[in-house]
Amino acid sequence: MRIRTDQGYYNTNFPQGINTTSINNQGTMESIQIVLASRPFGLPSSENFRFEKVNLGSLSDQEVLLKSWYISVDPYMRGRMNNVKSYAPSFQVDQPIAGGIVARVIESRSESLAVGDTVFGMLPWSTYNIEKADNLRKVDTQSVPPGYYLGILGMPGLTAYFGMIDIGKPKAGETAVISGAAGAVGIVAGQIAKKQGAYVVGITGSDEKCSLLKEQFGFDEAVNYRTAKIMKKAIASVCPNGIDVYFDNVGGEISDAVIDNLNFHSRIALCGQISLYNSTEIPFGPRISPKLLTRSVLLQGFIVSNYSDRFGEGFSKLTQWVTEGSLKYKETIIYGFNKLPETFLGLFSGKNQGKMIVEIE
Ligand code: NDP
Repeated sequence: MRIRTDQGYYNTNFPQGINTTSINNQGTMESIQIVLASRPFGLPSSENFRFEKVNLGSLSDQEVLLKSWYISVDPYMRGRMNNVKSYAPSFQVDQPIAGGIVARVIESRSESLAVGDTVFGMLPWSTYNIEKADNLRKVDTQSVPPGYYLGILGMPGLTAYFGMIDIGKPKAGETAVISGAAGAVGIVAGQIAKKQGAYVVGITGSDEKCSLLKEQFGFDEAVNYRTAKIMKKAIASVCPNGIDVYFDNVGGEISDAVIDNLNFHSRIALCGQISLYNSTEIPFGPRISPKLLTRSVLLQGFIVSNYSDRFGEGFSKLTQWVTEGSLKYKETIIYGFNKLPETFLGLFSGKNQGKMIVEIE
């Protein structure tokens, strides 16, 4: 990885001990940001990121100065590193990576936000940012941990809510299977299916995560896809009545095995395909269409933003469940701005339990 300073570039591995605090250099604000250094081919590496020192300038009217507090890493950001047209615009080479950030207001020229407020925004990966107050949402950190606005009370939670309630529609007595079950979306999706009275099975990548799902999140069964000899059979053995709802976070061979066990009139909420995000070739697999046809399966892909006009409903339901304690959550918190790239890469080897976020300072 290369760091650019006012003196030029120097090479480093993930830098330790970068001074991320703002220095008031000639009366203007400095920040450290992370830019896309190059586009990855396959699995990204540290070489695709670069730390840079930037001068933020000074505040204009209606703007606030923000100190980043928690920064989200999300699998969809991998797609944004490619130069392809998709639902989220590509990151540009030499421009900052951006995503969900919870930040504190440390200076304000807006009437709507005061110094000390905590806000959520889609912002550059930077230790400090200047942003228009209108682009930020003030959040309450008294009753829930601030990182929840990047997870269960943010985009992943809403994704689980709408995917399960609107597409999966599990009914009492049905079987719901969730892949990527121990992650930010999966643990919420499974608990929501449980709330609807379903028998819930999670698929994940370690025995520790399987235990977590059953012991802390109320899943009835869990399958470790890394140790299962034949996935189709491993899934069948814990789903004796077949599968009525499949919440798919991963795609690939795991989904092929789940689809083999689907019931007549089952539903697939096609949420993510993380097992394919680093593919360098067009993946080839079994033709699933005949199974979907003969079992009258409903398959619907969705992007959480499809539901933007109902975010209020989702947010208030999730908030109610979290505050009454009927919906549990877990965060994997990594400390230090310098850890952001490697934390993001850790999503692709299952380093997280629940939502992975980076705490700054
Ligand atoms: P997670 O918190 O679940 O983190 C990713 C997890 O995916 C890892 O912990 C790992 O868990 C698993 N994983 C990584 N690589 C593979 C692989 N090759 N095969 C199987 N599992 C793998 O991420 P999120 O909960 O934030 O996102 C889950 C999915 O939902 C992603 O595909 C994401 O793109 C998608 N998504 C879609 C949205 C939409 O609007 N449709 C919105 C938000 C997310 P393990 O140890 O189990 O392998």
